[in-house]
Amino acid sequence: MNEPTYPLLSVARLRMGTDGEGVTSLVAGAGCPLRCRWCINARMLREAPAERVTAPELLERVRADDLYYRATGGGVTFGGGESLLHAGFISRFRELCPPEWKVRAETSLAVPPELLEEALTSVDGFIVDCKDMDPELYRRYTGGDAALMQRNLKRLLEAAGPERVTVRVPLIPEFNTPEDRERSAERLRAMGVTRLDLFEYVKR
Ligand code: SF4
Repeated sequence: MNEPTYPLLSVARLRMGTDGEGVTSLVAGAGCPLRCRWCINARMLREAPAERVTAPELLERVRADDLYYRATGGGVTFGGGESLLHAGFISRFRELCPPEWKVRAETSLAVPPELLEEALTSVDGFIVDCKDMDPELYRRYTGGDAALMQRNLKRLLEAAGPERVTVRVPLIPEFNTPEDRERSAERLRAMGVTRLDLFEYVKR
């Protein structure tokens, strides 16, 4: 078979409590459909000639922490960039990695619905950065369409159930206010989100 490849930017090992439960390796990949104003990876996403790895190659790199993943309920978290652009690769990695590992994806959900459908079968936990639920704020900050993100989130909650979905709601300097963020949180609760993480972007 033709192995799918992944545009690898970095692997950050032994992370705790930031990319889902347990000890995780955060695997960052290139490519993102959004253009967020304060994106900390913008230059890297645009310029870095990412190394391409196959799923067996990535598995060998992250296997060193196997015992930690198993002991803590952790595993591998795909981030970026936009991880779900690589849903086919993640499915292949899930086929190969030990079933005890948790495979998670950090995503903006600003992706074609068919990529989300593919990820539903291989990703144990989704960590969604929704930016803001207000369409105009969202457009100004990301250049993207909030309606796409919201449709995907609705589908994700229906198909995966709220316990597999954490939604992060940021306070974004110069773009939204604590009141905007609370309005977003209210809309998310009304959609059925139970795992909400309210936080603040730090502008660098
Ligand atoms: S979604 Fe993330 S990676 Fe993409 S532009 Fe926004 S902050 Fe950057």
